[in-house]
Amino acid sequence: MNDLFAIAIHGGAGTLSRERFSTSVRQQYENALQQALQAGLHVLQNGGRSLDAVEASVIALEDCPLFNAGCGAVFDALGGHSMDAAIMNGSTLEAGAVAGISGFKNPIRVARAVMEKSRYVFLSGQGASDFAREHGCAEAAADYFYTEFRYNEWKQVQEKEQQNIVEKRFGTVGAVALDRDGTLAAATSTGGLTNKKYGRVGDSPVIGSGTYANNNSCAVSCTGDGEQFIQAVTAYDISCQLEYKQLTLQDACVHTMERLGSIKGSGGLIAVDRFGNIQMPFNTEGMYRACASSNAPTQVKIFD
Ligand code: ASP
Repeated sequence: MNDLFAIAIHGGAGTLSRERFSTSVRQQYENALQQALQAGLHVLQNGGRSLDAVEASVIALEDCPLFNAGCGAVFDALGGHSMDAAIMNGSTLEAGAVAGISGFKNPIRVARAVMEKSRYVFLSGQGASDFAREHGCAEAAADYFYTEFRYNEWKQVQEKEQQNIVEKRFGTVGAVALDRDGTLAAATSTGGLTNKKYGRVGDSPVIGSGTYANNNSCAVSCTGDGEQFIQAVTAYDISCQLEYKQLTLQDACVHTMERLGSIKGSGGLIAVDRFGNIQMPFNTEGMYRACASSNAPTQVKIFD
């Protein structure tokens, strides 16, 4: 065990504009980020595992109605909440993911149960819900996930779609961490795109696209246009540049964000490498984010 540890979290990059932010709203978001960071940091400071740290931070963000995951998730086209989540252990490359689950309080716990209690990596829809129920994951009624803000947003998106205007509203939460044992982990959880149809699944639960961790390189959690993040295999793209080309995390992030931009993907990501370096790039107006490490002070930021 050594002294080095690091953690970064995000609360999405989708629905941010400076005009919407009064000082008090900004304060609410910053407090929520601070609390979620502390949940994971506490685990790491006490010598705990990065997997537990990323899960703890993501649970705090899922439980907070401000973010698009768990309570506060966006509405899908049927007026429900359909959620995706993934978690990955960088020391074993074990991973667990779920897509299109409804009615479970903390989708990230379901993803972790898939990783640790099944022989599968990725479960979806009704089957994933059956699995979650069998494994005692906490359930919640539909009104638990309801927020007025998301409801109004859904209605606006529906109106625009009737006029054939595509307006993307999204958001996601995620965490990456390095623990004192040198193990990296990543976790991501989302309600996906507002008014999504046809069982649409974004990048968040797709291992290598929205979530990835490998002790030889880094841990990454993404947020943004899920389709483009899948096309760019974003999280794995960063890992490969570290592992195969020995690039720094910073350079790898620059290249990957350029690639993403070239296919019109907007959003951002958080990443931590095996040396505890942290990067949090984005090409949107802002990204809810926070980080801390054993050798750097806590940062909580929304805009540039
Ligand atoms: N990437 C997520 C998705 O496409 C949304 C987001 O991160 O904002 O489902």
